[in-house]
Amino acid sequence: MEILSSLDDLAKVVRELKRANKSIGVVPTMGALHEGHLSLVRQSLVQSDETIVTIFVNPSQFAPSEDLDRYPQSLEADIAGLQSAGVQYVFAPSREEVYPENYSTSVVPPLVARRWEGEFRPTHFAGVATVVLKLLNMTRADRVFLGQKDFQQARVIEQMVADLNVATEVCICPIVRADDGLALSSRNVYLSSEQRTIALSLNQTLDHVERQIQAGQRDGFEVITEMRQMLIDAGVERIDYATVAHPKTLETADPIELPVVALIAAYVGETRLIDNRLLE
Ligand code: AMP
Repeated sequence: MEILSSLDDLAKVVRELKRANKSIGVVPTMGALHEGHLSLVRQSLVQSDETIVTIFVNPSQFAPSEDLDRYPQSLEADIAGLQSAGVQYVFAPSREEVYPENYSTSVVPPLVARRWEGEFRPTHFAGVATVVLKLLNMTRADRVFLGQKDFQQARVIEQMVADLNVATEVCICPIVRADDGLALSSRNVYLSSEQRTIALSLNQTLDHVERQIQAGQRDGFEVITEMRQMLIDAGVERIDYATVAHPKTLETADPIELPVVALIAAYVGETRLIDNRLLE
């Protein structure tokens, strides 16, 4: 496995791969890798000739009040995990490499970025869209592998790629959960064992929504009210949003018509967790 940190080294590799007519799969991550990330990696290894995993904690997607400075990092363990998974290339650039001093361009994210995460993290998707577009250009990715865990983020990237005619296919992979149902997240390491129990209520609430909708519930307002109540009853201190939305437009689904996505963002202690369930 080759570990690259400079744009020049990456460009050389990419040129060689393109010359050899190899398809390039890219998995963008912020490191602190877990099985969720590795599931994207495995999918890329299956679908692409060569896989580049990027590890970059992108400062422009964090607001000043957020956890950029304490975002979990474990580069050595990440590299070991990627090596045993059979990844060919890791690209782990410095901040200066990605955002040199004279850097000033940014992507205006598509309309699907407006609601939900966009309301609570107003600068987040501009940062995400910009860095992902840069990474796709740097790696000349044929395919990019994203997790459904970040449902709205995947929609933002999908829409940006379509709107800006980026020559990359967007592949969205299922949410990987721990045995107890908690969606894997790098931020789960912040949770105490009591908090982890409370955090399970996100998945349990999504289970409940799924059962209700399967049983014929079509009243979006009622579903949303129940979602909030279940989370509060479980001890969730702060809910950013708990909703049912159309999976393409991300507008609230009321009345509910399938397909629909149930979305939650909530704080357990200081830790902000997100989860979702797509019902088709
Ligand atoms: P992050 O490092 O958190 O920015 O995530 C990098 C990629 O991994 C994103 O496309 C995420 O959606 C994806 N990802 C994170 N957690 C999971 C999970 N539990 N299951 C599937 N994909 C995930």
